Amino acid sequence: MLTMNDTALTHILATIALAAVAMAVAAMFGLGWTGVAVAGGCCLVTALVCGKVLNLSVDAPQDAAPAASAAPDLLDNASFTRILDGLNDPMIVIDRGRVALANRAALKLLGGHIIGVDARIAIRHPAAAERLATNLPLTNPTSIDIVGLGTRGQRWTMEIVPIDMTDDGQRLLIHLIDASAQHAVEKARVDFVANASHELRTPLATILGFVETLTDPKAGGDAATRQRFLGIVEGEARRMEQLVEDLMSLSRIEADKHRLPETSVDLSALIREVADILRVSRGERGRDMVLEVGNDLPPVQGDRAQLSQLFHNLIDNAAKYGRLGSPIRILLDQEGADSVRLRVIDQGEGIADEHLPRLTQRFYRVDSGRSRAVGGTGLGLAIVKHIVERHRGRLDIASTSGVGTTVTVTLPRAEEPEEERAKDAEPIALSSK
Ligand code: ADP
Repeated sequence: MLTMNDTALTHILATIALAAVAMAVAAMFGLGWTGVAVAGGCCLVTALVCGKVLNLSVDAPQDAAPAASAAPDLLDNASFTRILDGLNDPMIVIDRGRVALANRAALKLLGGHIIGVDARIAIRHPAAAERLATNLPLTNPTSIDIVGLGTRGQRWTMEIVPIDMTDDGQRLLIHLIDASAQHAVEKARVDFVANASHELRTPLATILGFVETLTDPKAGGDAATRQRFLGIVEGEARRMEQLVEDLMSLSRIEADKHRLPETSVDLSALIREVADILRVSRGERGRDMVLEVGNDLPPVQGDRAQLSQLFHNLIDNAAKYGRLGSPIRILLDQEGADSVRLRVIDQGEGIADEHLPRLTQRFYRVDSGRSRAVGGTGLGLAIVKHIVERHRGRLDIASTSGVGTTVTVTLPRAEEPEEERAKDAEPIALSSK
C-alpha cells in the first residue's frame, strides 16, 4: 500500500499549490495556454528537484533504513527525465562540470552530442562558461542574460539552480528561458518613444526658430514676411496637433484591443456620412471619390468612432498618394454570408513589394519627405491595423508599382441577438381549416 510521511504530504500539497499559483499568474499575464503549462511544469520540476534535495519520499516512512531502500538517484528517476522532456524550455542537469542530462529542447538547441560533454563546451557562450567555470559552490539560484545561443540575436535568460552537493562537486540545474519576444517588445517601446519625440521635436524646432525671428523687429519687419512666417508656424503647430491626436487615438485603441465592441454599426450609412464630409473637406481630391455600396449589407459589431477613423485614414491615404484627377474608388459589399468588405482603390505610383509588410508599423513611411509634405504622421495605417484587430477583422494591402494600391478590410457581421436566433429556430406551425 502507498504510504506517505507528513513532510512528503506537505511537500506534495505545497507543490500542487505552487504550480496552481504559477499557472494562475501566467494566465493573469495573458501568456496563453503554453505559458500556463510551462509555468506549471517549471514549478513541478523545481519542486521535484527540491523534494529530492530534501530526500522526501512518498513511499518510505521517515524512520526507514536509509541505504538499502534509498530512493533512486535523481538522474535515474524516469519521471524526472519525462517531465523535463515535456517542457518547451531547454533544461540541463550539470554534474561535476559535465552535462549529465538534457531534455529534448536542450538537445535541439545545443546539439545531440552534449551528454557527457564539459558544460562550458556544450553551452559555448563566454558569459555562461565564465559562470560555470568557477569552482566555488553556488549557494543560491542565479541568472544571467545571454545573446546568440541558437539563432543569431536570439536572447536567453539562463537560470542556474544548485541541486545538491556530492563528495566531488556540485550538481546544477540549468533552465534556459527564451527572452527574445520580451526583448522585442521592450525594444519596440523604446523605439516608439524615440520616434515620437523626434517627430514632435522637428516641428517644435521650426516653430521656435520662426518665433525667434519674428521677435526681432528687423528680421520680421515687413508685413508680408511676417505673414509668411506666421503661416509656417501655424502649419507646424497643426502638424504637432495631428501627431498628438494620432498618438492618443493609438493608445486608446490599444488599451481597448481585447474588448470586442458591443454596438451594432450600419457600415453603409457610416461610409456615406464619411464620404460626404471628405468630398467637401478634401477639395479637388474630394471630387475624385466614387462610392459604390451594396444593397442590404448586414451590420457589424463595432465601435462607430473607430470605424469612422478607419474610413477616414484609408480614404485620406488614397487621396494623398493617388494621382491627382484619378478616381478614388470606395467599394462596400458583402463577402460570403458572414462578412462585410471595404475596398479603397487608388491609381498612383503604388508601393514596392518590400515595403508592404512594414506599412502598419508605427512611423514607417515609404518616403518620409512626401508623407510630411502631405500632412502624414506615419501612424495612419498602424491605427487602421489596431482597429481591424479589435474588430476581429482582416486587413490586406495590395499594390502594383506605377498602377496603384488596393486596401481591403473585411469585418465579421454582427451576431444575431439571442431572441432573433431563437425566433428563427422556432418550428413553423402549420394549420389547416
Ligand atoms: P502617413 O501618415 O505617412 O500617410 P500611414 O501609416 O497612413 O502614414 O502610411 C504609411 C506609409 O505608407 C505612407 O507614408 C506611404 O508611404 C505609404 N502609403 C500608405 N497608403 C498608400 C497608398 N494608398 N499609396 C501609396 N503609398 C501609401
